[in-house]
Order: sequence, then C-alpha cells, then structure tokens
Amino acid sequence: MDLEEEEEEDYRSESRRKASTVFSVIASVLSGFLGNWACFKVSEMLNVPSQAFPAAGSQQRVAPAGQSRNKVVLKPGHSLLDWIRLTKSGQDLTGLRGRLIEVTEDELKKHNTKKDCWTCIRGMVYNLSAYMDFHPGGEEELMRAAGIDSTDLFDEVHRWVNYESMLKECLVGRMAVKPSPALQAHTEKTESTHLNGLSAPPSLRPEPLSAPLPAKDHRPRYDWFQTDGTVNIVVYTKRKIPSAGCAVVDLQDDNLRVEMLLGRMSYLLYWRLSSRVQDHVDVQTAHSVGKVQLCLRKSVKEKWTQLGQSLEHHDTFIQCKDRGLFYRECVLLSKTDVTHNTQLLRLQLPPGSRMQVPVGRHVYLKTSVQGTDVVKPYTAVDQMLIPPSQSSAEVGSDIHLMIKVYPDGVLTPHIANLPIGASLSVGGPEGSLTLRVLRDVTHLYMLAAGTGFTPMARLIRLALQEFTVIRKMKLMFFNRQERDILWQSQLDELCTKEERFEVQHVLSEPADSWTGRRGRIDACMLQNFLERPENSKCLVCVCGPAGFTESAVQLVRQLDFSEEELHVFQA
Ligand code: NAD
Repeated sequence: MDLEEEEEEDYRSESRRKASTVFSVIASVLSGFLGNWACFKVSEMLNVPSQAFPAAGSQQRVAPAGQSRNKVVLKPGHSLLDWIRLTKSGQDLTGLRGRLIEVTEDELKKHNTKKDCWTCIRGMVYNLSAYMDFHPGGEEELMRAAGIDSTDLFDEVHRWVNYESMLKECLVGRMAVKPSPALQAHTEKTESTHLNGLSAPPSLRPEPLSAPLPAKDHRPRYDWFQTDGTVNIVVYTKRKIPSAGCAVVDLQDDNLRVEMLLGRMSYLLYWRLSSRVQDHVDVQTAHSVGKVQLCLRKSVKEKWTQLGQSLEHHDTFIQCKDRGLFYRECVLLSKTDVTHNTQLLRLQLPPGSRMQVPVGRHVYLKTSVQGTDVVKPYTAVDQMLIPPSQSSAEVGSDIHLMIKVYPDGVLTPHIANLPIGASLSVGGPEGSLTLRVLRDVTHLYMLAAGTGFTPMARLIRLALQEFTVIRKMKLMFFNRQERDILWQSQLDELCTKEERFEVQHVLSEPADSWTGRRGRIDACMLQNFLERPENSKCLVCVCGPAGFTESAVQLVRQLDFSEEELHVFQA
C-alpha cells in the first residue's frame, strides 16, 4: 500500500459516509428540505445573495411547471439588500435593546420558535427571528437551528458564509462556558469570532468526531535551513503532488502561513518569523517526491537562531473542512469577456502570497455591500482550456475566475464594475474533489450546465495531461443559447485535436438555426452518452444549477452508476 492508499484506507468509512451524505443531501433536496442547488451548493442558510443568485430570470429561480422545485420564493422586500437595509435601520433585532448577555444551554433551548428563534454558532448566540423571512433556504431550514448549537449544521452547508457580518445586529451574546473536560476548544473556527468586543468562549465545542486521523508517520513534516541571505523551509508531504500543486503561502507582515492541501487533509505551518524578510516567497515543488521548498530572502544578512514563534494551529494536520478560511487582498489585473455575460477575471495575489489551487476547488470572493460582507464561491480556472505551456506569470501568483454577471445580483454587478487595479478579498481555496476519485478511471463523463462548466475545465486539462489510463472523456454541456456556451471554440478545437475528448452541446432555448441537441437533461440523452464498455471504470461528474443537478444525479443513479462512480461539485 502506498501512502495515498493508506490514507484512503483511513478514510474509507469517511468516504462512504460522505458519499451517502451527498445522496442524502440530494434526497433532502428532492424531499424539499434543502430546496435548491443554491442551498445545497451555495449554502444559503444565512447569506446567499438572494438577488445575485440565482438571477431573476434564471431557471434556478423560476420553477418550470411540473418540475420538482423547492426553492423558497422570498416575499417581495426580503432580498439580501433588504436585509442589509434592515440591519442598518437601527431596529432592535434581538429584543434586548443592544444588551449582550451570557446564555446558558437551558436558556438557549427555550428560544425555539419561529417568533423567538435563537441559535448558537461557534459560541456566539444569535436571534434569527427577524432573519426568518429573509433566508433564501426558507424558514423550515432555519428552524433546524432553533434553540441549539447549530455550528455543525451551519458548517455542513454554510461554512464560508460571513455570518458575523450578516448577523451582527442579531447578536444576543455568548454561550456561558460549561466547565467540562470533555469539551475542547475548537479554536481554528473561533479565529474571527470577535464581535462587539465579545469573543467566543474558548472551550465550547468538542473536536470534530469525524474520521480518524491517519497514523502518525503519514503526517507531513518540515525542516528548515538558512544561508547568509535566505531562509529555506522544506515540507515533506509524503505523497505525490499533482501538477497543479498544493501549496498556499501567505506572508503578511512578519507572519508566514503555509498550508498544504493534500486531498482531504490540510497541513499548516504558521510562524511569526524571527526577523524580517523581503515580501516575495519562492515556492518550488518536487511533485513526484512530494517535496515543497520555500525560499525567503532575509532583509538583513544575519544568522537566525530560530525560524520564529509558532502561531495558532502551527504544525497541525487536519481535514480541510475543519480548517478556518484565510483571506488575502488581491488586485484585479484584467477582465476578459468570455461570453455576452461572463467574464474571465485575473487576480494577482499580494507579493507574499502563492496559491496553487487544486483542481476542482473554489475560492471565495468577499466584498462589502453597504457595510455588510457578502461572500460567494468561484471555481478557479486556467487562463485557457489548454494553455500552450505554463503561463508567463509565476506559478501561483495569480488566479483566474470565470464570473457570470447577473444584472440584478448583489455581488456580480459590483465585481463587473470594478476597475482594473481594484482590490478584492480572496479566501480559500476549498472543495471536495480529491484526485483519488480519478484513480484507474478509464471513462470520464462530465455533465455540466452553465457556469457549472468551470470545475470541469481544469479537470479536462488534468485528465488529458496526467491520467493516461483515461481512454474516453466526454462532456455534455447544457446551456440556454449558443451564445452562452463558455469557451466554445476552445472546446471544439480540443475535440479535433484530442481523440480521447468529445463534447456534446445541448441547448434549452436554441435559435431555430441550431442543429444540435435541444432540451434539458433527460434519460434518453444519458443512455447513449454514459456508455459502460467492458472492463471500464467510469466516473460521472456533475455541476450546474440546482434543478439540473437534482435531475442529473437521479438519472445517473437510474442508470445503475454507484455512489463511488459519481462526483457532484458543490461549493
Ligand atoms: P443557467 O441558468 O444558464 O442554466 C444552464 C442550463 O442548465 C440550462 O440551459 C438547462 O439546460 C439547465 N437547467 C437549468 N435549470 C434546470 C432545471 N431546473 N432542470 C434541469 N436543467 C436545468 O445556468 P447558470 O446561470 O450558468 O448557473 C450555473 C450554476 O452552476 C449556478 O447555480 C452555479 O452556482 C453552479 N456552479 C457550481 C459550481 C460548484 O459547485 N463548484 C461551480 C460553478 C457553477
């Protein structure tokens, strides 16, 4: 067994749990709990820009007749912007006239009705009653949090949502600390939990009881050495690193944060450095041996007696989902039109940051709308479908995001109007795809709708370049009109160049002149598309609007594809 396999073994039960979670989430979607893809994917318990997304005219928003749709239609005057306005109105949203109190568990339990709904997130207690009608996921979903510590529930679907900002006027206070040795601090997630001078109590939540950690010697380790002018940190990840890399480095002031994204796991190194260094970090990766080397240039040529002082969570190896989000300010370098309503943004990371976003993962854009932070996930793409070689920019110094602008959105028109040189806060990366799912796959099928194409874009490139076992790679790409097809000419070009790759376009609102496939996803389309030749190992990847994803998953299952043969991209 190689290291990856051992890790896989360690996580087999976790994977099973995850896979069944995907299906149970989907089942919930169908049964009306999660309501829509935005819930399931964009996680709208508290802060999905309801106006931004889905757009008013989007098929996600308007349930076509006869189709299973559970999207909660917010009453007029209950959009995200309306909520922001209400929070600024000076109204008492907690019923405590601005007083902050300590809340016991017993007290919390009492506030469990729609009109009096308190919940606890990371030790802080909020009164959600005023928010009830503004919640895009609906009252039913929000009521699941009533009267309890909903941190895990929140993290399941909303981890990235900036609830502190969204709910700051709903803050009731903090949980009273219960002296119990069994409860351990969950400090990573309390990093930013400081509100109105209150900070979350340190010992509230047990460590996540998820999968067991890999055995000790699977842990990455690090070493450092120095020369007169440089400090070098070497991280031995102990597993093969894909070509896209795995390192996310942030040097801010004298703090150096290095995160290695290794499948489901995250290894973090975090120091306040002993002495000053220049703000440029060089990152070299030896992919096959799994080694990452960082080179920092000393501001003053002097001998360091130590690298620095360890900061919070230094040298920890935990699941990515349990690691707090880290933001850095990026500069908008360019905007290029991809289609009539979609732009490719190139963002430059600050000089001390390097970010190698693993394939299929997303980052978060955070911006302030009328003083409230609005956050939304975007899957990182490359500059082109198949760049000729490594782009001229230094690896990991910039990121590309494909953004569809929804005219009545909250965030996207703002982003579209940003001038070149403007700054944007970028958090992450995050995401659930691990390359293990591609192991031994011979037939890779991708069902993408609209911007759901973005995670497929890098997957196609990776599969073509690194997974020679894949004999066939087929994309079925659903759009409304031909003008909506992202990177159409690049896809067509790839088809002619690459025998293994095939694309089929399906339009739901085609012009009369369209000679290709029409309609929405259905069993008939998939029957021929998802072939399963003898001795093949198939993987079907799905990404798109909620209704599309629901249908696609159902249909794929009906065609007897197992849970292991299906990956649903979700943010
Ligand atoms: P869109 O509204 O333009 O729809 C594109 C196509 O999807 C339509 O032509 C139709 O064929 C299909 N479709 C839409 N609604 C459907 C339904 N109810 N049933 C069956 N088919 C349906 O798409 P868009 O505005 O580009 O939205 C793309 C979606 O993909 C967004 O919801 C976005 O959040 C999601 N997305 C997710 C990720 C991720 O999770 N990693 C990444 C990118 C995009």
